[in-house]
Amino acid sequence: MRRVQHNGPPFYQFSHLAHFPEIQHAVFTRDGGESAGPFASLNTAVGVGDDPEVVARNRTRIKTAMGGARLQFARQVHGVDVAVFSADGKGVSPGDAPEADAMITDIPGLDLIIQVADCQAVLLYDPVRRAAANIHSGWRSSVANIIGGTAAAMTAKFGSDPADMLAGVGPSLGPCCGEFINYREEIPAPLWKYRIGDHHFDFWAVSRDQLTASGVREENIRIGGICTRCRADRFYSYRSEGRTGRFAVVIGLRKNP
Ligand SMILES: [Zn+2]
Repeated sequence: MRRVQHNGPPFYQFSHLAHFPEIQHAVFTRDGGESAGPFASLNTAVGVGDDPEVVARNRTRIKTAMGGARLQFARQVHGVDVAVFSADGKGVSPGDAPEADAMITDIPGLDLIIQVADCQAVLLYDPVRRAAANIHSGWRSSVANIIGGTAAAMTAKFGSDPADMLAGVGPSLGPCCGEFINYREEIPAPLWKYRIGDHHFDFWAVSRDQLTASGVREENIRIGGICTRCRADRFYSYRSEGRTGRFAVVIGLRKNP
């Protein structure tokens, strides 16, 4: 991933997604916001103990950095539901955050935002049908293959062919820090092949395989490869810090490409 710094908060981008002028995307860090203490500084999540007014100002900074696009949040619950924001009006109306861990859209000017601290944010873009997805894939949703469910939803709603899709897996818990002591209870046996050593798991590899199993081509997949726990100086890490913020990952179609 490459680091971008304009006037606002710094962010990272996947080069293969940055190639398409009709979309915008950003992986923000914990830098460039107003929150203090364990939430310093660009925390975008309410309900984690941060001051809601400061969070609102941080969100405004992100909105500004995204050129004023409308930010669509989800109420993330570690499930598998996909919220559809469709230009034909048949999906969920943009606005209030629906309870969902993935969002898909073909509406220009609507930016989908996922908030994470160790969980994966997975971005999908179909340049043929011009539809985008943002997926919150923590280990529970990963076990339930929310990635496959979201790719299938893009096919069902927008006619997307996964072979056309580009995918990016954001900074998240790496195999170095993905320790699951109780994996025999928590992780189904078919995923034990992703175990490294005694109880570490490579959920980056899980996501890569779920993407290819969905029909996404290997060469269109980018794994950011940054472990949030190892880089808790730059990203929020729940495992490292417990009481902490959530950084934002955003993707959307531009209104005026
Ligand atoms: Zn690590």
